[in-house]
Amino acid sequence: MHANPDPAAAPADAPTLRLAPAMQLLQQSGRELPDRHEVGQVAWLQAVIDSLCELSSRDPLTGLANRRQFELALASEVDRVARAGEPALMLMIDIDHFKKVNDTHGHPAGDLVLKAVAQALHECIRPMDTLARFGGEEFAMILPNCPPLFGLAVAERVRKKVQGRAVTIAPGQQVQVTVSLGGAFAPQWVRSSAPLWIDRADQQLYRAKAEGRDRACLEQPTVSLVSPEEKGLLFGTSQFADHE
Ligand code: GH3
Ligand code: MG
Ligand code: MG
Repeated sequence: MHANPDPAAAPADAPTLRLAPAMQLLQQSGRELPDRHEVGQVAWLQAVIDSLCELSSRDPLTGLANRRQFELALASEVDRVARAGEPALMLMIDIDHFKKVNDTHGHPAGDLVLKAVAQALHECIRPMDTLARFGGEEFAMILPNCPPLFGLAVAERVRKKVQGRAVTIAPGQQVQVTVSLGGAFAPQWVRSSAPLWIDRADQQLYRAKAEGRDRACLEQPTVSLVSPEEKGLLFGTSQFADHE
């Protein structure tokens, strides 16, 4: 057995945190850790964890929520719609002929257009809405508490916002793009699933593309008549279920 030369030092086999890769990532992303915390203390570690969570939930190009974050928000919205029975709209938004922008003006110009579209979309949302970059040139929005009657007006407002924006891609050079939108409402008082809801919105997006692009197509929401007892049964909270 070897005697520990410094009794105050941690044992040689004590587990240590390997923070260098995390710190490198945070530095590369331009995230500053608050300097009010002492390095190594719990508050500092918490700040590191918070920054890493933030980093892993954002799309680096546009700064919007990424697909992972979107799926988290979607899962809780599916749950909320089933429990509260409130209407919620999902919009899938895809830039029209975006490949042509890249082919004509180059990939960096395409990136500028993506950022500008993200910004335009961001200007359309309320604090409770979720907006994410779903993939390449496709974005997704979840709008909780959106009455079916307003759905098309909301989608049209988004479409016009993008259409009206000129993007400067070089000094004196601007491009304009349009988007197609597909929308579907979560079925109220029914437990749907995230993939099924996305699929229905996607079908409408496909329709908007097929009908000529630069337009919004929404699925007609079905009105289901559900009694309070039936709603209660969904979650086993009915007075009848309680007395069984
Ligand atoms: P449509 O109207 O049918 O949607 O046609 P489109 O050209 O927009 O669609 P397509 O799927 O053919 O092309 C999408 C393009 O988006 C292809 C891909 O190179 C480009 N893209 C995806 N991600 C990025 C990105 O991060 N930056 C840039 N500049 N381009 C991207
Ligand atoms: Mg496209
Ligand atoms: Mg696409």
